[in-house]
Amino acid sequence: MLEGIFDFLDRRFLRTPENRLWMAQRLPPGLITRLQAGKFAATVRYAAQHSRFYREKFREHGIDPAQVRTHADLGDFFTTPEDLRERPVEDFLCAKPEFGFETTGTSMGINKRVYFSYQEMFDYGRDGAVGLYNLGLRPEDVVADGFDYSFWNAPFTAYYSIMAIGAFHVIGAFVEPQEFYDRIKVYKPNVIMGVPTHLVRVTEVAERCGTWPVKLVFLGGENLSERTRQYMEGVWRGAKVHLSYGQTEAFGMNGVECPEKGGYHLGALALTSEILHPDEEGYGELAYTTLNRTVMPLIRYRSADITRWASDGECHCGLRIMPRIGKIIGRSDELINCSMGNISPYWFEEMLRGVPEVTDDWQVFVRRGDRDDRIEFHLELVNGASPEEVKNLIFRNIESRFPDCWRYYQKRFFEFDFQFHAPRTISEGRKLKRLIDARRDAWNQ
Ligand SMILES: [Zn+2]
Repeated sequence: MLEGIFDFLDRRFLRTPENRLWMAQRLPPGLITRLQAGKFAATVRYAAQHSRFYREKFREHGIDPAQVRTHADLGDFFTTPEDLRERPVEDFLCAKPEFGFETTGTSMGINKRVYFSYQEMFDYGRDGAVGLYNLGLRPEDVVADGFDYSFWNAPFTAYYSIMAIGAFHVIGAFVEPQEFYDRIKVYKPNVIMGVPTHLVRVTEVAERCGTWPVKLVFLGGENLSERTRQYMEGVWRGAKVHLSYGQTEAFGMNGVECPEKGGYHLGALALTSEILHPDEEGYGELAYTTLNRTVMPLIRYRSADITRWASDGECHCGLRIMPRIGKIIGRSDELINCSMGNISPYWFEEMLRGVPEVTDDWQVFVRRGDRDDRIEFHLELVNGASPEEVKNLIFRNIESRFPDCWRYYQKRFFEFDFQFHAPRTISEGRKLKRLIDARRDAWNQ
């Protein structure tokens, strides 16, 4: 009831992102939690009524949809990425779909499909626009985006969000960095959007050929290391580089980074989120339920992304009322337990931060060493850099940023190995799997 009234007022009176952000700063505390609870209970009942998958699963788990009020009422029931891969997409559908996307970056051979209606994409765009407005995007800005269209939602997330703001938009899509640079330059965009791997290469072109005033570089689709952020902000002088966090399953709109860069504000009126099995530092897997979807609602969906609730106190931005998560430190299927610790790609990003002598295309293999595990870095040296110097910089970072890890290394619990390569030879344009556990292969040999 309350959520119905709120949605009506929101659509009728808060039409612009500016108004919605103004309102977000004045919502009474507790209202968001109440709205979420109402929408969550309604979503569970709706899915149980219309989706074969949820009807079956609730019956199997002895869940009475009418009684469900919170995630905890669902016991050990989750929707998993495997469910999306293994079950026909029709089993999840509750209404007629109008648009289909697939998830990227899976190595399993079967892509997950996620369906939406135009209305749902429009609604996500309105929410995304509030996050972008909070980062400084305005109707008078000119945006160029480089998102790849192939089966992927990101360009549409950009499209609907930019439309909701009313800024000028030109789409370069995923063309060669030099061509992208040459052709967007004509429009003098002061905002550029895209995936980190592509826009890093565009930034390299800009470093050689010249920049123009850019105030915001907005990235999505992949994680961003702090060193890449610093590099891009250094080249596009005066620009802020920010990141969105989103899965295709949530139309790329789980959250938008806080302007203070202390994590992501979640779209709490469109999702309710929880962190599963947090460790002693609070890190666990993010799971969420979509709250506004009629075509393919997802209930307690396991994201496989590892994060924690932001722990650095309250921020001061316009979205401070929205719950905030910290950095995504890895995927649950990327965490590797070895003699170095329970490691994730984030560890190595931190070890390489402040080492400009290597490129962003790096990979780390965990192998069986002579006695214990061997951590094998594969790095691309920038012209003329000395391997010894790079090793020393990395060791210095480990010592200061991961003191426990450094102590274990000194005690020879594990060993490091460094392999250096020429620039642009490791990734060959593919999205890199950063951290690879190669120990199992050794056992099989
Ligand atoms: Zn904030």
